[in-house]
Amino acid sequence: MGIGCENMERFDFRQLLLQTQKRFALPTFDKSDVAPLLAELTQVCSEAETLIERQQGGDRSLLACGPGCQDCCVVNVSITLLEGIAMARFLRQLDSVDLAQIVARLDQLWRDVRGLDDDERMILRRKCAFLDDQGWCLVYPVRPLFCRSISSTDVEHCRAAVTGQVFGEVQPVMMHQFQLQLYKTLFSGVADGMARAGLDGRSFQLCGLVRYLLSHPDRDEELLMQSSLCWDQLYA
Ligand code: SF4
Repeated sequence: MGIGCENMERFDFRQLLLQTQKRFALPTFDKSDVAPLLAELTQVCSEAETLIERQQGGDRSLLACGPGCQDCCVVNVSITLLEGIAMARFLRQLDSVDLAQIVARLDQLWRDVRGLDDDERMILRRKCAFLDDQGWCLVYPVRPLFCRSISSTDVEHCRAAVTGQVFGEVQPVMMHQFQLQLYKTLFSGVADGMARAGLDGRSFQLCGLVRYLLSHPDRDEELLMQSSLCWDQLYA
């Protein structure tokens, strides 16, 4: 069952949560093969993009987010293990030189940010390892649900909020509420569904998880089934 209703005022986020949980908790999934779950995740993201497009009536003029804008890519990003696997598989298909550069950036970033809470990470203002020199997201087709939820209506508000954080100031950022709520709901639905299916539905820090998965390419299914990934392994 796909994502259906597109009227914001009547949109039933609770129903979407239940639907998404069911999609990822289906007992028919072969737990030794993550491919169907990855395909389901791709489908969910595609449906969400279509829904947002319809909800906005094709008018994106209220959204300040766009290609090359990278001001918010300095925060802790939480992702599910399934999202991390999708990203690691995408990255492994890149040119080996490009991949080596990304791995080096992940190593450096992880050394700098592991263990930091959200406020500390933002104050550090270290950019995401997946940004290229022009500020483009190198994993855009498989970017996390959290990243997809960010939908500022004013880029100056974003910059002021990040800068203000350094001085202990909390500044509001106006967001497109439908997009924010939609992806938050999908994140919860994916995580809950995976957990109900007996798979690992926990969330992890983006940088540390993808770094680990890239260096352990044969463990995807095992990690999903056994929920065995722990902080010590990520921290190393
Ligand atoms: S994954 Fe992409 S969108 Fe998300 S923080 Fe990193 S560069 Fe930004």
